[in-house]
Amino acid sequence: MRKIQMVDLKGQYEAIKGEVNDSFQEILESSAFINGPEVQKFQKEMEEYLDVKHVIPCANGTDALQIAMMGLDLKPGDEVITADFTFAATVEVIALLQLTPVLVDVEPDTFNIDPEAIKRAITSKTKAIVPVHLFGQTANMDAIMEIAGEHDLYVIEDNAQAIGGNYHFKNSGRVKAGAIGDVAATSFFPSKNLGCYGDGGAIFTNNDDLAHTIRGIVNHGMYERYHHDVVGVNSRLDSLQAAVLRAKLPKLDYYNKARREAAEKYDEALRGQGFLEIPVREGEPDTHVFHQYTLKITNGKRDELVKHLQEKDIPCGVYYPIPLHKQKAYTDERYNEGDFPVTNQLVKEVISLPMHTELEDDQIAYITSTIIDFLKKG
Ligand SMILES: *Cc1c(COP(=O)(O)O)cnc(C)c1O
Repeated sequence: MRKIQMVDLKGQYEAIKGEVNDSFQEILESSAFINGPEVQKFQKEMEEYLDVKHVIPCANGTDALQIAMMGLDLKPGDEVITADFTFAATVEVIALLQLTPVLVDVEPDTFNIDPEAIKRAITSKTKAIVPVHLFGQTANMDAIMEIAGEHDLYVIEDNAQAIGGNYHFKNSGRVKAGAIGDVAATSFFPSKNLGCYGDGGAIFTNNDDLAHTIRGIVNHGMYERYHHDVVGVNSRLDSLQAAVLRAKLPKLDYYNKARREAAEKYDEALRGQGFLEIPVREGEPDTHVFHQYTLKITNGKRDELVKHLQEKDIPCGVYYPIPLHKQKAYTDERYNEGDFPVTNQLVKEVISLPMHTELEDDQIAYITSTIIDFLKKG
C-alpha cells in the first residue's frame, strides 16, 4: 500500500506534467508574468465552465471575499451574517472592513449555515449574508435566496470549498455553486478542489456594474491608468498559476467525481457502525464535491481517535476545533452560548479523513478498518 496522504498534489501533477511544464516554459520565455494571456484565457474558460458572466481572478480566496464586500460598498457598522462553523477567513475580512460580523449556528447534518438562525439574526442594520458551502456541499440556497429577497440583503457565496458543485433549485433548475448569489469568492489554494501551485483566487458575478467596480478594486482602484477613483488593493493571479488552473479546469468534473467515488467507498465501509455518523447529503449527488469527508464521532473519543490514526500513519484533520464566536479575535457580547448548540457540539465530534483524487481502494480499506476497530474497543 502506498503511503496515505491527506491531499495528494504530486499524483495529480504527474497526470498533467507535460502540459504544465510546457506552459511554464512558454511563460518563462515570454516574461508575461502578470496579466499575461494565460490569465485572460483562464478567466474566459472559467466563465464558460460556471456559466457566469464575469470571473475576476485575484491573489487568493481571502482577498476574493474582501474585494467582493468592497465591491458591494458595504459601510462600517453594516451587519454581515455568516456561519460560526467555517474557516476564519470568512469572518476575518468582514471585521477588517469594519463591518460587523454576526455569527450564527449551522445545521447538524450538513454543517452548513442554518436558514432559521439567519432569520433570527436579521436586524435593521443587516446588509448581507455569507453562506459558506462547507466541505464541498452547497448550502440551502433556496431558503437563503428567499430570505435575502424578503429583506433586501446581498448574498456573497464563500465558494472556496465547493468549486464545480451544483445546486438544484426547487423551481428553477440546476446552477453551479458560486453562480447563485450576487457575488461569490473562491480560492485556488493548492489543496482546494481546483488548486494551483501557490496562492490564487477569483470573484464571480453576473452583475456587469459590480464586475466593473471589482476589476478596478483589484487594480488599485484604477479604471483608467493612474486615475484612482476608489480605494483599491493589489490582488492578482499570476500567469504561472493561471497556466496550472487551465490544465486542471477541464479535469475538474473528473476530479470531483473521483472524490465522490472515494466518499461512497468510505460510506460503504462505515455505514451502520456504532459511534459514528457518515456525512449527510441533502440534495442530488452533484451538490457535494467532498472538499472534505467529515465524520462525526459520537462517543466522546474523537481526540483519542485522532491520536490513534496518527500512530497508524493515517493523516486526518479536525476542521474546525473551535467555534469562531469563541475565538479571541471574534468574541462579542452579543453572543450567547445558547445560540450555538450545533457548532459547540460539532467542534468536539468532527474528524476529516484523507480526501483527494488519487485515493486507492486498499488505502480506504485500511483507514476504515482502523477506525472501526478503534471504535469497537469502545
Ligand atoms: C480556503 C478558504 C478560504 C480562503 O482562501 P485562501 O486562498 O487560503 O485565502 C476562505 N474560505 C474558506 C471556507 C476556505 O476554505
